[in-house]
Amino acid sequence: MTSARSNVLEIESLSVRYETPDGAVQAVADISLEIAAGECIGVVGESGAGKSQAFLAVMGLLAPNAQVAGDARLRGRELLGADPRALRDLRGAELAMIFQDPMTSLAPHIVVGDQIAEVLVVHKNMSWREARAQALQLLEQAQVTDAARRLTQYPHELSGGMRQRVMIAIALACDPVMLIADEPTTALDVSVQAQILSLLKRLMRERGMALALITHDLGVVAGLADQVAVLYAGRIVESGSVRKLLKNPSHPYTAALLRSMPRIDAPVDEPLVAIGGQPPSPRQPIAGCPFHPRCAAAPSRCTTERPELRRIDGAQVACHFPRSNSASAITL
Ligand code: SF4
Repeated sequence: MTSARSNVLEIESLSVRYETPDGAVQAVADISLEIAAGECIGVVGESGAGKSQAFLAVMGLLAPNAQVAGDARLRGRELLGADPRALRDLRGAELAMIFQDPMTSLAPHIVVGDQIAEVLVVHKNMSWREARAQALQLLEQAQVTDAARRLTQYPHELSGGMRQRVMIAIALACDPVMLIADEPTTALDVSVQAQILSLLKRLMRERGMALALITHDLGVVAGLADQVAVLYAGRIVESGSVRKLLKNPSHPYTAALLRSMPRIDAPVDEPLVAIGGQPPSPRQPIAGCPFHPRCAAAPSRCTTERPELRRIDGAQVACHFPRSNSASAITL
């Protein structure tokens, strides 16, 4: 994949597979995407769609029995199969990730200031004194109130939103070029969620950092992302600009996701429509389009022939019968 854009991350034909005692599990299949400096891509899908697995592969954080194929290049440097020590140096420096539950990443017995400072001591060779001073600045940049006092507190003394801000401060410590945020606001209440998203947006613009925002919530993507990739059963089924996908989705699954999502501009009596059925098990892939058991209109071709991703109306869509205004379009 080559591009005139200044791509920070390029993922090409990425697949993740596990051999288990119960058979093979195809978690991610043939995903390609690219993210430019200062750009946010929303990676959307239901649980088990493969979105976290794809980016854990990029980070080199998959379970040892994972089989990974394809390429993932950070500013031209291949990450997949890279020397573990080189990868460890990149993580926390140029490439950082934050997760849904900060408590799983923060050490419960170390005060917040020392957890931030340690990153600077290890990756930037700072003295502990310099690093602690820098930790205060990072907490302030992450809009942590009463930052000087927080430095001496333990994670359990902070609220969920405050802990996520601490994780953001740690992620930013070495000025990464790429931040991966995996459901960063799912565990937070709505007002704190909005604050964290606006913080991420500001930091991304100020630092020219690329952001991959993994979420099941298209509403979260709407406020922050430039591009969106919708994943279903381990594959991208639609990708393109956020404006295009939210206004005029081509894939029936994207349209169904939108109809299941509360919208502030919707008439009060407009019902939300849940997507019926379940995604296919990654242990038992089905023939044809993986969405066909749940698709409102799935002609026989859909049950036998898997649609390839192809460019339609400025987006990439994997559907034999994409939605459009034409007479042949399927309308859900
Ligand atoms: Fe529905 Fe067929 Fe398109 Fe799959 S390929 S989303 S089953 S219309």
